[in-house]
Amino acid sequence: MSDENRVQDLRAEIDVINQQLLDLLSRRAQIVSEIGALHTALGADHYDPEREAQMLTALEARNKGPFSNETIKALFREIFRASLALEEQQARAKIRVQRKSPDERTIIRLPDGTEIGNSVFSVIAGPCAVESYEQMDEVAEALSQRGVKVIRGMAYKPRTSPYEFQGLGEEGLQIARQVANKYGMFVVSEIMDKSQIDLFLDYADIFWVGARNMQNSFLLRALGKVNKPVILKRGLAATLEEFLYAAEYIVSSGNPNVILMERGIRTFEKWTRNTLDIGGVTVLKLESHLPVIVDISHSAGRRDIAKPLARVARASGADGLMVEVHPNPPVAMSDAKQQLSIPEFHAMMDEIVQLA
Ligand code: PEP
Ligand code: MN
Repeated sequence: MSDENRVQDLRAEIDVINQQLLDLLSRRAQIVSEIGALHTALGADHYDPEREAQMLTALEARNKGPFSNETIKALFREIFRASLALEEQQARAKIRVQRKSPDERTIIRLPDGTEIGNSVFSVIAGPCAVESYEQMDEVAEALSQRGVKVIRGMAYKPRTSPYEFQGLGEEGLQIARQVANKYGMFVVSEIMDKSQIDLFLDYADIFWVGARNMQNSFLLRALGKVNKPVILKRGLAATLEEFLYAAEYIVSSGNPNVILMERGIRTFEKWTRNTLDIGGVTVLKLESHLPVIVDISHSAGRRDIAKPLARVARASGADGLMVEVHPNPPVAMSDAKQQLSIPEFHAMMDEIVQLA
């Protein structure tokens, strides 16, 4: 056999051994997580330095070379470190929506194969509320030119005052559906009550739970039974933990396809409508495997800072942003101060495309 062939044979052997080592490491990690779960149940510490020292001594005693004892110990210490990290991570993840490993992620798949949460920055947009067919058509045309796939088709509006425009109701859903079909887009619409689920199933592709309903556990549980994705907005004054527990209601009831949306929280600040919690966005990305979208409209309440906020959203590691767009914002029936005109929307898109 030529030396070259011999090298090839030996390399094939190495490949097999690599595979065996990988299998053994994975098996070891499984056992470690089982021990971790028992430690958690017993309330015991995950790190046991004495046990680690014993294992290293035993390995040293069995080592016949050619690796030195120091090298063997260094290699195994690395394995122990990774195992401890795994045990601790799993112990910290108490609920389903929390990450159990750094690479765990939920990817939302829409019927045409569009994905949210797959590291491509998604833009969800549309007017605050559906006002007319013409209004939706004009906005949808602009959005579709920029590849936006999900359009706001808001037909029931949770307004502060009962005397203000409350949305077009079912007619609004019909308009949104028609326009979305025309441009090959998907409708997301805010549901106010679980009694509306059947109605929404006829028109919407994605359910939307607004800030005011974030802790409506009956609605959240009911949305756990539908087989369409749900966008869940953070409550006006909800902590991140409360936010994740709200998502847990949906996921634990059977629907894993939840998208989190940060929309700003109430603070003492008056120059913005809410305070965009961008630190919260990065913590959510760290803590949870669910996609996170930044609402740059309701968090600011003003259109003049949309471009820098879009840049911030993009740079934050979020999975996308949500922005309100209206053909003639000053006369909009709701949120007139924050909706972007169509030229402003294009300018915002140019800004984030540059960042890519
Ligand atoms: C909305 O996005 O349509 C909305 C009403 O916002 P929020 O629920 O965050 O107030
Ligand atoms: Mn709005």
